[in-house]
Amino acid sequence: GKSDQHAPLVVLGSGPGGYTAAFRAADLGLDVIMIEKYESIGGVCLNVGCIPSKALLHTAEIMNEAAEFADHGVTFGKPTVDLDKVRANKDKVVSQLTGGLKGLAKQRKVKIVHGYGKFSSANSITVTAEDGSTQVISFDNCIIAAGSRVTKLPFIPWDDPRVIDSTGALELAEIPERMLVVGGGIIGLEMATVYDALGAKITVVELGPGIIPGPDRDLVRPLEKRIKAKYENIYVNTMVTAIEPTEAGLVCHFKGDSSPETETFDRVLVAIGRSPNGLLIDAENAGVAVDERGFINVDNQMRTNVDHIFAIGDVVGQPMLAHKATHEGKVAAEVIAGHKAYFDARTIPSVAYTDPEIAWMGESEISCKEKGIEYTKGVFPWAASGRSLSRGRNEGLTKVLFDKETGQIIGSGIVGSNAGELIAESVLALEMGADAHDLGLTIHPHPTLSETLNFAAEVAEGTCTDIY
Ligand code: FAD
Repeated sequence: GKSDQHAPLVVLGSGPGGYTAAFRAADLGLDVIMIEKYESIGGVCLNVGCIPSKALLHTAEIMNEAAEFADHGVTFGKPTVDLDKVRANKDKVVSQLTGGLKGLAKQRKVKIVHGYGKFSSANSITVTAEDGSTQVISFDNCIIAAGSRVTKLPFIPWDDPRVIDSTGALELAEIPERMLVVGGGIIGLEMATVYDALGAKITVVELGPGIIPGPDRDLVRPLEKRIKAKYENIYVNTMVTAIEPTEAGLVCHFKGDSSPETETFDRVLVAIGRSPNGLLIDAENAGVAVDERGFINVDNQMRTNVDHIFAIGDVVGQPMLAHKATHEGKVAAEVIAGHKAYFDARTIPSVAYTDPEIAWMGESEISCKEKGIEYTKGVFPWAASGRSLSRGRNEGLTKVLFDKETGQIIGSGIVGSNAGELIAESVLALEMGADAHDLGLTIHPHPTLSETLNFAAEVAEGTCTDIY
């Protein structure tokens, strides 16, 4: 058929994966069209994910620190929360970034077409704009960066405004008195951190045996201990079986070890996971294979089963993280521009921006045991870190794992303030094949939290003397 526009490269979706791919391809000389259904570009991460959540978590952090500062000899008054301003501040951060992105797209002459795109053939996408008008865009190469959406449990009464997902939670319509968070993963517990600081009484319900699945349990325990003391309840090994809207509130039914049979909440935040958008783009018209869950399988150059169609980000698999999407976006753009690029990262770090933060990368003790990997470890408790104690917190922990045979770092985990910042050094160490000696002999500034990695490596080597 005839097309209304043509580009050598069309990118479907403008999230971190999509815009990174589009920008990199443009920098390499390609003409690019990027298709996005929303007015605002930047995808989930910028609009309703990473960025707004971190803006609110900063507010929570300052409130928590102020409330706990009396021990330092300074007492702050009870905080006055102007929710409209809290929301406006978060929205400003988001619009600064999405506005900036638009400028960067313009500079690079990346053309943005607004509307919902679906494949009409192996070389074209039909885009339907909000006003119903359609246009056909043809391409030589395409990158699918359609991302993911909130997973909806079937029995949940979504039409009741008191039931919200992460997007609803970030809207900050009001602070409920009692809130149930369904799902004890990263997103649920980050939102719990925000609503707790702003005054809601929080209960968390998690289907699995523990909150924040993934890292070793010793890294989760400090968070568990802190929120057990702060929140109303944390029910693990517990299933929500029904939510009944009544005038008095949302009556939630539980099945589990320690939970009551029912309990009533003012709001329920459902954060049980995200589903890829692969089944919503008529990929079959292009011959692109999508699995029954909506994931698109790709090779290490991000290529789908169709040679000139690539896919990146949340739509290609776990972990659904922005830094994975951007990395994959660069690989796909470079391959399309004729470079020999591959996805060759040894690890993708994960961070829960809770209070305290938990960050981990590479192998854990759990995964080593599962895979039969022999390891040595170095653990440094932050109770012996002068910097951590000066900050009034002592519950942190830095752990590094080394391959028993080669001595090289194979994993690390950190819990404590700024763990998300601190993990990056061990990711670099792993990518470069560093061993405990390399980490131990690298002079770290004192007194910093970053030293704890250096100390943990020395602990593994039996040479640690710097306990202060
Ligand atoms: P997305 O960001 O999902 O973008 C896809 C884009 O494509 C969207 O804009 C969508 O509108 C558009 N689109 C989809 N289909 C079509 C179509 N057919 N036509 C037109 N447009 C279409 N990750 C982190 O790394 N760190 C964090 O701190 C973090 N915090 C998060 C907090 C929350 C509350 C949530 C929900 C997620 C968080 N994430 C975080 C995950 C992160 O947001 C995602 O991994 C990331 O956005 C994935 O990027 P993407 O490019 O694959 O897709």
